Amino acid sequence: MPRVPSKTRKKIEWLLRRAEGGLLSPEILEGEGLHLDWPDAMRRLADAEADVAALGAMARFEQLGRAIESGRAGDRAAYAAEHGVAGTQRFVSSGGARVYALSVETFPHHVNNVYVVLEEGSRLMLDCGSGAESSRRDLALGFAVLGAVFGEDVRLEALDTCLVSHAHFDHFGGANRLKEQTGARLAVHELDARVLSCFAERIVIASKDVDVFWRRAGVPDDERTCLLELYASAKSAFRAQEVDVVLRDGDAVGPGYRVHHVPGHCPGLVCLQVHDVLLTSDHVLARITPHQFPQAITPFAGLEHYFHSLAKIRCLQGITLALGGHEEPIRDLYGRIDAIADFHRERLAHVAALCASPRTVAQVAYAMFGEQEGYGRILALDEAGAHVEYLHQLGRLAIANLDAVARARDPVIEYVTRA
Ligand SMILES: [Zn+2]
Ligand SMILES: [Zn+2]
Repeated sequence: MPRVPSKTRKKIEWLLRRAEGGLLSPEILEGEGLHLDWPDAMRRLADAEADVAALGAMARFEQLGRAIESGRAGDRAAYAAEHGVAGTQRFVSSGGARVYALSVETFPHHVNNVYVVLEEGSRLMLDCGSGAESSRRDLALGFAVLGAVFGEDVRLEALDTCLVSHAHFDHFGGANRLKEQTGARLAVHELDARVLSCFAERIVIASKDVDVFWRRAGVPDDERTCLLELYASAKSAFRAQEVDVVLRDGDAVGPGYRVHHVPGHCPGLVCLQVHDVLLTSDHVLARITPHQFPQAITPFAGLEHYFHSLAKIRCLQGITLALGGHEEPIRDLYGRIDAIADFHRERLAHVAALCASPRTVAQVAYAMFGEQEGYGRILALDEAGAHVEYLHQLGRLAIANLDAVARARDPVIEYVTRA
């Protein structure tokens, strides 16, 4: 299959989700203020036929057209079982838990998967979106689809637990509203609970820590000021939220789902094991390699923890399906973990080669990712920083300008590969 640019993939997936509105009743389409203009989406998909084909989605598109046109319950149910409807997809674990993935647009063009796991006497949700308007809209749509298409008698208001997989805003930002609207207990790993419960403190302290990191990375003063504003602004809407259940590695939640602590991408990141299904959040994703940042910014981040956490999940036996916090399901979790670990080993080799002559982290980021704008600049510095830090921890990089670093109050550090 030809490689499809990620922008095109996102657009086609977005259009397919909207077009699937054709499988929903007018009451749902109008009821939640959703206004899914599915005929328009169908037309746009027809116009973009080459892209749909390149994504391997032609058969799905045609099946959708037939299901809408025929109006037969059997055709619609078959489509829903295979592809889901309007971003909500159903899976069943070996132990009989129904696991629903709800696509939720948490920021413009940024889609998260929120999971609703249902069993007799248990209604659990993993993550709660960002709290943004689009996030609330898509959660409402997801719950409407759960009832109308999949026959589930569950409402957002009636959840008993919401487990936040980690303290990144697209995964927990909706927690304020969730607590207002529902009686769900909020469960977060002990290393991330503080981010929610002492949010203002967290933003201030994290901003100071990233500022030190960027200064040492060689980011100029004026640029650092801009980056700091950007860093804080995306997170200003949240109010500190008390956590009801503080989780630790190995805990059981709901009817016995196992919590696996996997620090790296985020200090308090957890995967949740529902029988043979693993909800991996941002630890393992189907296509992109989860973002890394150095533990110089936050303890329990960094590549050493990440590799360790990949190995830990690699040892779990009998996982037949992994469902990430973004992107599509992963059928071969073990193969995907190996591919991600290989990717980082190659990236480490690349960074080591770049540092054959002395470089700052900012120079490494530029060499790896080129010119970046806005938040992309922060992500590039994090990613480069995590790799440089790990190589330095392993003794494969040395500090090239040690005398200058020793003398300066706010030194910029240059790294060089050790012979
Ligand atoms: Zn994350
Ligand atoms: Zn995420």
